[in-house]
Amino acid sequence: MRTIGLLGGMSWESSIEYERMINQGVRDRLGGVASADLIIRSYNFADIEALQAQGRWDRAGSLLAADARRLEAAGADLILLCTNTMHAVASHIEAAITVPFVHLADTTADAVVGSGLGAVALLGTRYTMEQDFYRGRLERHGLTVFVPEEPDLTMVHRVIYDELVRGVVRPESKAGYLDAISRLLHRGAEGVIAGCTEIELLVGPDDLTVPYFATARLHAEAAVALALG
Ligand code: GLU
Repeated sequence: MRTIGLLGGMSWESSIEYERMINQGVRDRLGGVASADLIIRSYNFADIEALQAQGRWDRAGSLLAADARRLEAAGADLILLCTNTMHAVASHIEAAITVPFVHLADTTADAVVGSGLGAVALLGTRYTMEQDFYRGRLERHGLTVFVPEEPDLTMVHRVIYDELVRGVVRPESKAGYLDAISRLLHRGAEGVIAGCTEIELLVGPDDLTVPYFATARLHAEAAVALALG
């Protein structure tokens, strides 16, 4: 079994789910008491969030790249960054390591394209919904991507930082997300990407009548497939 390196803690509310899903996936495949071979670097999210808010993406990229290199040196055979947003600095990480980096936007796009959909809604942080590093990467896979208009866009972003990364799950926020999703479906989206790893804690596939692409789950499944070959 290959060793999986995780850059996590952004936030730990979702990376703890990564760890659970990857271990569960290995047990499902191998049975018995088998579990994943993991090396985890979990950050103080307050430090990362401050860098985001200050727009210090290069500093964040250097930090993550240095730790990705440490994960490789410690024996990681593949590396996952357990947040969609911080894929804004994926190129820093890719340049720092020689083992595969499992890019979350590619994993997600493969799942959407594989399900036969061409147009999809993207929910996530403002960075993920608005910047090219994620949205543009999905589009380069041939997808049409719809993101919320205001005031939904600000609400989706705010719920992530004010609630979900703090472990707060509110029914009224779920209702707000479902309303935003219905507006995106009305505009032509055929499925929904939970493009923030904490959104899966708020909205599940059973809440929707269209295909739902839960990025943390897809990423964890991809890691298990790569680790077990
Ligand atoms: N985990 C989130 C994501 O997938 C947001 C937190 C962060 O900014 O890293 O985008």
